[in-house]
Amino acid sequence: MSSQTKTGKVYLIGAGPGDPGLVTVRARELIETADVLVYDYLANPKLLDWARPEAERIYVGKRSGLHSIPQDEIEEILVERANKGQQVVRLKGGDPFVFGRGGEEIAELEADKIPYEIVPGVTAALAAAAYAGIPLSHRSYSSSITFLTGHENPEKQSISIDFKQHGKTNGTLCLYMGLGQLPRILSELKAGGMAGEMPVGAIQWATLNHQRSVYGSVDSIVSDIEAAGISTPAMIIIGDVVSKRSKTEWFEGRPLMGKKIVVTRARDQAGQLTALLESKGAEVIELPFIEVQPDINPQLITEILAGIAIYEWIIFTSVNGVKAFFDIFYKAFDDIRCLGPMRIAAVGAATAREIGSHHLKVDLIPEKANGDALVDTFIQDEGIESIQMLVVTGNQNRESLVQRLETEGGAIVDTLPLYKTSKTDLSEHPAAERFRKEGADAVLFTSSSTVKSFVDQAAALTLEPDAKKPAFGSIGPVTTNSLKEHGLCVGFESKHASLDYFVNATTKHLNS
Ligand code: SAH
Repeated sequence: MSSQTKTGKVYLIGAGPGDPGLVTVRARELIETADVLVYDYLANPKLLDWARPEAERIYVGKRSGLHSIPQDEIEEILVERANKGQQVVRLKGGDPFVFGRGGEEIAELEADKIPYEIVPGVTAALAAAAYAGIPLSHRSYSSSITFLTGHENPEKQSISIDFKQHGKTNGTLCLYMGLGQLPRILSELKAGGMAGEMPVGAIQWATLNHQRSVYGSVDSIVSDIEAAGISTPAMIIIGDVVSKRSKTEWFEGRPLMGKKIVVTRARDQAGQLTALLESKGAEVIELPFIEVQPDINPQLITEILAGIAIYEWIIFTSVNGVKAFFDIFYKAFDDIRCLGPMRIAAVGAATAREIGSHHLKVDLIPEKANGDALVDTFIQDEGIESIQMLVVTGNQNRESLVQRLETEGGAIVDTLPLYKTSKTDLSEHPAAERFRKEGADAVLFTSSSTVKSFVDQAAALTLEPDAKKPAFGSIGPVTTNSLKEHGLCVGFESKHASLDYFVNATTKHLNS
């Protein structure tokens, strides 16, 4: 017997239908604190972004064309990790107890006396109905809802469901895993008395921005599904309520639905642009041209922190610099007053916002967000001769800033480099691979530097012959010029250089 000190536990968690916004608060808490996460094909991998970086992630779903890891091996992983004292999160698409083999997993945990907790999730039938606008029950048309499985796996033909029996229903049928056996199931429903005109809907990838749906009748739906190219995973909803669905298409009708848009993750605001595009329905491919890594010289940090109070100014040149600086500062000091009475300068608004998140006021921001403008403002407005300054920065574009502060301003400058940015190798990156294969409707450029990076990485971004050719969008005249200088054709330009206007221009261009 091992001498166990910590008790492990397994959390069987419903990962919902796909949209990460649809998991419970409890699910999120447990994902954030897990030691191990075991997830499968239908659990959105984006949920793993909430986990601690050091948490182990184990994929147990199907791998392109191959079968999933057998159920007993999955159960073995859960038991083994819990016995080691770990907090194990088992993420299952939808709800763990709706066609999710949750029952088998807890039986195994009980047999091994492993403590567990079950967190329900939004099951696919409810999600597909809501996102397609189909009321599953309706006072005039349906007062029962039945969840059925059709099994897509042809090896498992021994379904015990009597579909004929369900042909008599006046309620709504929700068919999980139904595509493979659909013709047989529908003919049994008809044999049981269901009308051929009964409305049917098939909704694929419900709640995700690549959701697609098709509607028809018991008689037409098989060919409708084929014509629309709908495949698994899809939810099939059968019943009069299908014809009562909302006409506004609140989800699939959003203006960028079905559009694939590339954004570059070179700038701090990329997350904001992605969120704006996604909220209008776009599928966003983020290309990370640049990677930011910590680059720390412990001796220099110790020296600078020991004398931090001598500086009259501290200058931050990027959001990354602010983040890295305060990470280190809070490890060394537990009182913000240890910063001393210094004044603070930021190169631009995003950097100033990050500083503001520490409840610190920024004393100087140049009108234009660049290093030269910063020096000009210092020299014109402040006078920095013989003043001690600290520049917190990365490995790029710092020489000229520091040199100008010293030679033109006469300041005494110390530099604290905390991170380095380097070019991402896109030839191996999954996002770039997807772009090469599928192409996109648009590529959005938010600055000249994103244009340069794109051209720089041209070899890794060359489209395959069948890929969709994107339109190039520019945030404003400066970026447009850069595109032209590099011989790239500009599809559209935003009226104002703001993300909102840029997203509107993109929407307009892609819907014209
Ligand atoms: N436990 C899951 C169901 C697993 S069975 C749940 O509660 O939802 C897998 C089947 O669920 C798929 O074949 C499909 O019929 C359905 N399904 C799961 N996610 C779906 C989605 N996002 N859109 C449509 N159907 C989905």
